[in-house]
Amino acid sequence: MTYRPSSGQLPDREAIPVPYTWDLGHICRSWEEWQQSYKELEQEIEAFKSRQGTLASGADALLGAYRAMDRMGVLSYRVWYYASLRYDEDQRNNEINARRQHVQILFAREHQSSSWFNPELLAIPLETIRRWMELSPPLAVYRFAIEALFHEQEHVLDEQGERLLSYATRSSSVSHESYAALTTADMKPPTIGLSGGEQIALSYGQYRAILETNRSQDDRATAYRAFHQIYADNRNTYAALYNGVLQRDWFHARARGYETTLEAALHGNDIPSSVVETLINVTKEGVEPLRRYHRLRRRVLGVDSYRLFDLSIPLVEHHAQYTYDDVVPWIIDSVSGLGREYQQHVRDAFNGRWIDVFENSGKRSGAYSAPVYGTHPYMLLNFNETLDAVFTLAHEMGHSMHTLLAHRSQPFVYAGYTIFVAEVPSTLNEALFLDFMLEQADTDNQRAVLLQHAIDSITSTFYTQVMFADFELQAHRLVEQDQPITAEVLSAIYSGLLREYYGDVLDDEPLSAMTWARIPHFFSTPYYVYQYATCFASTARLMQDLRSPDSATKSDGVERYLALLRAGGSGYPMDLLRTAGIDLSRPDTVRAVATELDTLVSQLESALGSQGGAVRDPEFRPNNAY
Ligand SMILES: [Zn+2]
Repeated sequence: MTYRPSSGQLPDREAIPVPYTWDLGHICRSWEEWQQSYKELEQEIEAFKSRQGTLASGADALLGAYRAMDRMGVLSYRVWYYASLRYDEDQRNNEINARRQHVQILFAREHQSSSWFNPELLAIPLETIRRWMELSPPLAVYRFAIEALFHEQEHVLDEQGERLLSYATRSSSVSHESYAALTTADMKPPTIGLSGGEQIALSYGQYRAILETNRSQDDRATAYRAFHQIYADNRNTYAALYNGVLQRDWFHARARGYETTLEAALHGNDIPSSVVETLINVTKEGVEPLRRYHRLRRRVLGVDSYRLFDLSIPLVEHHAQYTYDDVVPWIIDSVSGLGREYQQHVRDAFNGRWIDVFENSGKRSGAYSAPVYGTHPYMLLNFNETLDAVFTLAHEMGHSMHTLLAHRSQPFVYAGYTIFVAEVPSTLNEALFLDFMLEQADTDNQRAVLLQHAIDSITSTFYTQVMFADFELQAHRLVEQDQPITAEVLSAIYSGLLREYYGDVLDDEPLSAMTWARIPHFFSTPYYVYQYATCFASTARLMQDLRSPDSATKSDGVERYLALLRAGGSGYPMDLLRTAGIDLSRPDTVRAVATELDTLVSQLESALGSQGGAVRDPEFRPNNAY
């Protein structure tokens, strides 16, 4: 039996053949069983309160509390994901939505009933706890969790200080909430006229679509300028809001005794500031492949001028469709280099109904991998047969294998992993899949489509994110040095960065300097985006070994990589990566990305050959002649 999504009206969920849906019965067999787990969790939460005041009595009491938290954690995964994944199947179902919200309310109670734990533990001298751990191997399992908590404690203030800081919590989100209101709720999309005569209201979705698909440069320019003009018209408001974010970060950093805002942001994960500084500096030194790529684009697109709105239009037209049934064996083949066991896990994911493949009416959009502890990861897709959808599947499968290996190898307390390592397996799986597809491709056009996809993911996931990190760092430093923050200052930083990264490849476009006002991450989660770039660099470094013609280097690389996946969250991310052979403080780790981009651009150049204009590839199916 096979199924393919068709355009037009979305099918009801019942119309999707069962093998293409996930089987949530592995989490709970029924709502009754879910209700049972919910009650158990409720009881555990109640019972946990009685442990308050006991921790100092010794290793057994502390171990008992940790194990009780593990039980609550395991149950939390089960009750949350069963309700939440069921809800995502059809978000119009209010009954399930209500159950999901009940879980959220229960989590708030869980949070309250265990809030005494950290302060009580931290009141015991670390030396005492270390002695307990030496005598009690079961307690020593929690060593990293305990040490990390004390590490965080280094910048916690006394009671009065913490109380004062807690009063500031509510005002600290005002800037980014105002940003969100100004940018979404209060934003009126401008109406623009396109060259074909049509008038459209320019939502963000429309804007993206025009930049990515409209082959008229005039139309792209019109959309780009109309969209950025809104930000330019409110430039002083945006600058004032961003200043609010910067001042808040500096306030918290100083209040807690950090030297810089960057140090404050990195302390929790124990990452030295030099990692971000090295990332930025080495990337700036390695911009030549980026410029080479854009010079090539400019030539192939055959445009007289080249600006930011010309960066997303594909060089190669491709409308090939990839059926899910065809893609499954390719994904399995693509991971063969990681060993039989890993490959078997991927096969299990496909055969064991871990994946909800197709769109149906009411289903949640996008794609994710859900780390359901106690069963196996689940993946939600909206597979629409495009090349993007295929790479998304490879990406989510990477996350899922990370989850699977970490859950199987670690005690519950370390089963989760941080974002700092999370995007390594996902991007690595994409890289393996790219290699596989390139090998299968038998025309230059097919190769060009794939190379363009890979290059665009490097430019957007790596170079752009490093440039963003660079912007955030420069802006925060101005505040740290008591310099004023105005729209002119922020725009000057941004246009300076565009020059440093793109050189003379980009023609001047005054509105591009306003890009900073358009990036929600700057306002909502400062110093966050660099982690995509460090993950990408780690992957590029690992792939150098995995692609090595020397079999010893390769198998050693595979072993180290699998050990990283199995390590879950059992250490600080830099340490975990170091055991996988990745040292992010070393320039050559970061340089691996520029090296890879350079190779890909050369391959793209030769795939495009002497063609001056955009090439067309109506059908593209590896292994298939038709
Ligand atoms: Zn991801």
